[in-house]
Amino acid sequence: MNIDALPKFTPEANELWTKLNTEDKKLLLSNVWCSKCSRAATIKNFTGVVKSGDLLVVGECAECHGDVARLIESK
Ligand SMILES: [Zn+2]
Repeated sequence: MNIDALPKFTPEANELWTKLNTEDKKLLLSNVWCSKCSRAATIKNFTGVVKSGDLLVVGECAECHGDVARLIESK
């Protein structure tokens, strides 16, 4: 999967996303807390938006398909 440019991200979200390096992106996407699984899970079918200046990635847990979200604070 090419994670450097994501079509489901808004232009603003993509701008923040492209500032992250590839290793960080992989880590972020494979380390999303799922409250149903009670552990970190991989996020899939996700979209990205900017909320209060931070990047919010919303998608589903790869394990249980429950809703998960990850807020990536911009520095
Ligand atoms: Zn889960």
